[in-house]
Amino acid sequence: MIIKDRQELEVKCSPVTIKEGEEIGARLLHELRESKNGIGLAANQIGINKRVCVVNVKEPLVLINPKIVKKSKEQFVFAEGCLSFPNKKIKTTRYQDIVVEADNHKKQLSFSAKSEEINDAFECACVQHEIDHLDGITMFERELKRKPVVNGINAPQKIGRNEKVTITKGTESKVLKYKKAQGMLEDGWTLSI
Ligand SMILES: [Zn+2]
Repeated sequence: MIIKDRQELEVKCSPVTIKEGEEIGARLLHELRESKNGIGLAANQIGINKRVCVVNVKEPLVLINPKIVKKSKEQFVFAEGCLSFPNKKIKTTRYQDIVVEADNHKKQLSFSAKSEEINDAFECACVQHEIDHLDGITMFERELKRKPVVNGINAPQKIGRNEKVTITKGTESKVLKYKKAQGMLEDGWTLSI
């Protein structure tokens, strides 16, 4: 059973031992497989307020007491969903590069949306989304904010040539630099901003 109540999810989770974390991680991976279309899940989404989450984009990854220890200044825009809010898809901003430490991983883990491999961006955004859950933060708090209205005119969003954007066409989506995306916009792709 996945919790769908936003208020219930706005609770900070507490640390666990590695042993307890591994048990919770196994349950989470099981739930994630059952969900069919999910790529990540945090313990509080199944009613366990402990700092464990899983991500399954390229390979199943369990994170026990994870912490983001480094993050880039650069951000990217991503179209995000959540198993707790099955019918919602929103555009969020996430850090382009992060370094994560977790008690069950000896080495630091790096995630980056810099490459043009869509799964790298998915994994990078998903890890940030799940760690947020453990702090009681849902994706709605990361929603891309439009620029304020200036003199009654809605100021257009200025996008840098090297800024990462998400473009979609039907069910396909790609993350790439704006300068590369521009040419594809004439080809039926739309910018997710
Ligand atoms: Zn979620």
